[in-house]
Amino acid sequence: MSARILVVDDLEANRRLLQARLTADYYDVLLAQRGEEAVQLARREKPDLILLYVKMPGGIDGYEACRRLKAQPETRHIPVIILTTLDDRDNKVRGLQAGAEEFLTKPIDEVQLMARVKSLLSLKVVIDELQAREASGKRLGVIGEELHSDPLEQHRLTAGNVLLVDDNAVQIKRIKASLGVEHKVTLLGEEGASASPDLVVVAVTAKSFDGFRVIARMRSGAPTRHLPILAVVDPDDKERALRAMELGAHDIIVRPIDEEEIVARARTLMRRKRYVDALRTRLDQSLELAILDQLTGLYNRRFLMTQLTPLVQRAQCGGEPVSVMTLDIDYFKRCNDSYGHDVGDKVLQEFSARLATNVRPSDFACRLGGEEFVVIMPRTSGDIACLAAERLRRHIAATPFVIHGMDHALEITASIGVACSETLEDTADSVLKRADEGLYEAKRAGRNRVMGRTAPHAA
Ligand code: GH3
Ligand code: MG
Ligand code: MG
Repeated sequence: MSARILVVDDLEANRRLLQARLTADYYDVLLAQRGEEAVQLARREKPDLILLYVKMPGGIDGYEACRRLKAQPETRHIPVIILTTLDDRDNKVRGLQAGAEEFLTKPIDEVQLMARVKSLLSLKVVIDELQAREASGKRLGVIGEELHSDPLEQHRLTAGNVLLVDDNAVQIKRIKASLGVEHKVTLLGEEGASASPDLVVVAVTAKSFDGFRVIARMRSGAPTRHLPILAVVDPDDKERALRAMELGAHDIIVRPIDEEEIVARARTLMRRKRYVDALRTRLDQSLELAILDQLTGLYNRRFLMTQLTPLVQRAQCGGEPVSVMTLDIDYFKRCNDSYGHDVGDKVLQEFSARLATNVRPSDFACRLGGEEFVVIMPRTSGDIACLAAERLRRHIAATPFVIHGMDHALEITASIGVACSETLEDTADSVLKRADEGLYEAKRAGRNRVMGRTAPHAA
């Protein structure tokens, strides 16, 4: 996977060293010397990952730069790896608290560096993909602009469920004590172990089971695939640490476990998961909200126009004709007045279900609002559309509506107007307007009937 990585270090030699290492793996590298410069460059160039050295004389240090990167919406999603020469706890925890995803100590262990770069970049690919889908939904007009709030804002950390997979009693106690302050921590195998954790901590140091197998299985199982995994490894066991990352652990922590470090790492991992989950859910919901009518599940007015407009345009460029029918339930107000609004709603739902099951799969059944509906019929002439409308009208009138909770079925009828794209001047609006005129005529003529309208200048 190729990606652009911004390297920030005040010493030229350090920058060049990292640049050479990263370029050897075909990453594109951007360089900056100072914190302020890095923040600006990141905003302008949107790199996929930032390697940030903490100590930079003059101006802001790496922690502050990280904080600023995480504070501005344009750069907030870019993962940051903080680099330091000091292998002390304070610095590590400070880095994670500044919002950095990772923390590495100089001299940099190449293997660790490349494993973390890879892991962070693969996460970013998922986030970018979801964001791109959302952006294209907005461009196509199926997602409203109003949905722009950042899910990260709404999903700042709250308590979560941590599932611990370990066999070392002392370590279990320690992890439970430190993570237990914020989260509910349960041990795999014990009673009440979490079935839907937000984070799994796996000790690959365990003697009684194979931690690698646990990680591999979680990665391949559908319900656990997106779960973040934190692997507990022994110090200086580079090989096993790497293996854990390769198998799909998102992060590693070295024994003996530092309490503040595990708290910070758990927080970062869960925040990431929530962010991805929130993006996914919001995308699904907004796509659905954007095109479906909530009461009936039919397409809504906005979707109707996004489909009809290009179909009419295509028909005019020599493509096949598109027909529409507009339907309005007869005397629906009476139904509401006699039986109540709830029964009215159920009639609308039953009407919609009949509409949806009695049109062709290529047709679009939409609810315009109230008791008014439209069916778009691509590749359909006016004659055929009138036949389809007549069949639908008869089906509605012939079988009274059985409504749950009512002792008798309701006789429902609808009036339908039909029009087809015909003239060169036709637009989605003009075709709909003609169908509406047909509908109005059908109402005037006594309701429960179909009226086809042809264009004034039929081609
Ligand atoms: P016509 O035969 O001329 O179409 O008469 P009608 O009574 O069907 O038409 P009118 O436009 O006078 O009344 C439509 C009614 O639909 C009025 C409104 O209260 C009701 N209505 C609109 N939206 C909803 C809804 O979502 N649920 C329910 N239950 N009723 C609705
Ligand atoms: Mg009406
Ligand atoms: Mg009506």
